[in-house]
Amino acid sequence: MKIIDAKVLVSCPGRNFVTLKILTDDGVFGLGDATLNGRELAVASYLTDHVLPCILGRDPFQTEDLWQYLYRGAYWRRGPVTMTAIAAVDMALWDIKGKALGQPLYRLLGGASRPVPAYAGGFALGYAEPAAVAEEAARQVAGGYRAVKLRLGDTLNRDIERSRALRSELGPDVALLADANCRYSVDDVRAMLPVLAEAGAGWLEEPFPPYQDRSWRTAASLARPVLPLAAGENLYTRYEFQRLLDGGAVSVVQPDLSRCGGVTEAVRIAALASAAGLPVCSHGCHTGLNFAASVHYLAAIENAWYFEADGSTDNPLRTAACSPAYSLAADGTVLPLEGPGLGVEVDEDYLRAHPLTQGPAWH
Ligand SMILES: [Mg+2]
Repeated sequence: MKIIDAKVLVSCPGRNFVTLKILTDDGVFGLGDATLNGRELAVASYLTDHVLPCILGRDPFQTEDLWQYLYRGAYWRRGPVTMTAIAAVDMALWDIKGKALGQPLYRLLGGASRPVPAYAGGFALGYAEPAAVAEEAARQVAGGYRAVKLRLGDTLNRDIERSRALRSELGPDVALLADANCRYSVDDVRAMLPVLAEAGAGWLEEPFPPYQDRSWRTAASLARPVLPLAAGENLYTRYEFQRLLDGGAVSVVQPDLSRCGGVTEAVRIAALASAAGLPVCSHGCHTGLNFAASVHYLAAIENAWYFEADGSTDNPLRTAACSPAYSLAADGTVLPLEGPGLGVEVDEDYLRAHPLTQGPAWH
């Protein structure tokens, strides 16, 4: 089997959505998510101008060799644009493998280890009034989630109000997670820890960007008796994750399949985390392709903890543009799709009917 063509589909069905489609000489094609929110066209250009010409004629089953070729073949490595492009190729190649073999991706990665609990990501909750945030969380729990994430990083008073409103609304049985989105100082962490402890938060995610080593060390010394710290969505490749693990501050590892380097690299990162005795959670999945790949990945690795879902019922990147739709099990877990490869189809007519509109970066 050979790769004979590849194209990038840039669209905006409500949000910007970039899809990579790789075609082979025996008619099997693979899909990969190339969406880098806020920098969509940069990835599309990187793929079209620099990557795709290099993979024509290659064997799509050689995911390892092609990953190394695309990563090590370039002098300028890592970073969001490069790694999102490599991840899209890698995801599409795994999709091709699964389709050619008639097997869902999770079975190619080792088979399902256990059901993966899902939580509703904090983006849907946002910085609305505390009562409105609590109301949205209640809707998510009614929809099946047994865990929700609070978006921190507003003023401290508002963060405190939302934290208390959420715990009051959710009761003691729903897990509450907290994400500061890199908007805290060490003093903010110091002030919020008693509040998060009172709310029974399961972790504090990304108080700072991952390269602020001294801040992380201080935060870890403050947080360790109270709650774990989590990070990973801003990291690329196993090398950056190894550095994170060596720092010793983080107890929950959160790779994003479309940032860290795709399925191939995410499996390696899970092994690094396993060797450190740490659980892996996926970072938020806004497109149907990333969503599906992340569930396959977490189902197959032995140290998965939580799957981060967008928590929205009307996200067109996961519903109108992609099928089949996911549903949560009654216990709040999410199962991988059973179709071959990713198990996801993208409606290209729908994407063509929703061309790109470049709005401001939303994240
Ligand atoms: Mg986050």
